[in-house]
Amino acid sequence: MSRSATPSLPHSKAPDITVIGAGIVGLCTALSLQRAGLKVALFDATGAGSGASFGNAGLISTGSCIPISLPGMLWQVPRWLLDPDGPLALRPAYALKALPWVLQWLRASSTARVTRASAALNALHSPALSRYQELLGDERFDALIQRRGQLHIWSQPGKPSLADHLVSELRRQHQVPTTPLDQQTLRARMPEITERIQAGICFTEHANTVSPQALTHALLDCFVERGGELQIRSVQKIDALDEGFRLWTNSGDVTTPRIVVATGAHSAELVRPLGIRVPLEFERGYHVELPNPGVTVLQPFIYKDKAVAVTPMQTGLRFAGTVEIAGLRHAPQPRRIASILNTARELFPTINTEGARSWFGLRPSTPDSVPVIDAPSVHPGLYLACGHGHTGMTGAPMTGELIAQLVTGKASGLNAAEYGLSRFE
Ligand SMILES: Cc1cc2nc3c(=O)[nH]c(=O)nc-3n(C[C@H](O)[C@H](O)[C@H](O)COP(=O)(O)OP(=O)(O)OC[C@H]3O[C@@H](n4cnc5c(N)ncnc54)[C@H](O)[C@@H]3O)c2cc1C
Repeated sequence: MSRSATPSLPHSKAPDITVIGAGIVGLCTALSLQRAGLKVALFDATGAGSGASFGNAGLISTGSCIPISLPGMLWQVPRWLLDPDGPLALRPAYALKALPWVLQWLRASSTARVTRASAALNALHSPALSRYQELLGDERFDALIQRRGQLHIWSQPGKPSLADHLVSELRRQHQVPTTPLDQQTLRARMPEITERIQAGICFTEHANTVSPQALTHALLDCFVERGGELQIRSVQKIDALDEGFRLWTNSGDVTTPRIVVATGAHSAELVRPLGIRVPLEFERGYHVELPNPGVTVLQPFIYKDKAVAVTPMQTGLRFAGTVEIAGLRHAPQPRRIASILNTARELFPTINTEGARSWFGLRPSTPDSVPVIDAPSVHPGLYLACGHGHTGMTGAPMTGELIAQLVTGKASGLNAAEYGLSRFE
């Protein structure tokens, strides 16, 4: 089946809506709109699943209800920044630019804000697997998604902090099933893991895709089978008309009655000329994939000491992590790749790193970790679906449902107010 583009719109009936961006969010949104009966045009600058959706850790964390910014986290930041293999890096020359977002991030760490964000994340994430199954159909779902649970593991449990207590309470409130694991059980599951790992927990209901890239391509195939077509067009500018929008693209301009902006990290700059400010920062992340690691990892895990996710993929064992605050256009840093490789060796002293492949991508992140899924009233017909940060693979299917609700009125089960831009005012 052809996935590539032709420059003209395919059928005689003009599209009802144009989705800009064919990452996991744009694809799920395009499919949901199509399933709601709309004729959908889908544009992407480079091809389906080529942005952050390509190289992530593939975790579908249905119980993920904890935002990144938590009470007391500020005091951990210096320790993270000082550790060259730590989870956080900041480019000094960019620090001032990131400051307004960092201040909003700090404000989002109050217990009240975290509790509200947690409920919004839970509602968005908990139906992810059933929604993927509906969008993909059983055969594609079974080929691409494994339901093996997910582990969080660490070297020293330490004394629980205020944030740890809040995290446990929120998981309890949202009924996220977990089981504790001791060192012996972990070593039975992963015989080559270092003895430094002492404990962990298993999120029994979590899942993962064995290939984020194949998942996006399968969603595109579903869209195409329903009569849709992906057009390779980079949208350079959006003009709001009296009715509808004009999209200025690298292959001519197009008018369309409604648009969904789902361009990941590029969303804020695309809508800023329309007078819409989306508080997005780029949490740059990396992965290293080892084709023949020579160690046993049957289910994905997150090594909490370094915040690195380890996922068995179709193509190798993927180590993904790092939050690097350095702006949209700064070159990828080899130091961060070396640091992930160090973590791989720390976890598995005998690991074979030969043939390692690396990748770099941009998490589009809001200060409170909740994406922006909204229909700003200043421009009727404009919809925003961006800001999925660390959990876009998990939040994408329900994002599509909520956009379909905003466009057609068909209920999604989500409270749209929790995902709107007005929460930042
Ligand atoms: C290292 C790492 C690990 C991660 N692990 C996980 C995980 O395990 N589980 C999870 O749930 N999430 C994870 N994430 C987060 C997840 O990858 C993102 O939240 C998600 O991919 C965002 O999807 P998106 O569609 O919004 O953006 P993208 O995937 O970046 O897609 C945006 C698309 O828009 C297109 N585009 C941009 N500008 C234009 C334009 N002007 N015109 C036309 N098209 C345009 C791009 O070409 C791209 O295809 C991880 C992220 C990283 C970086």
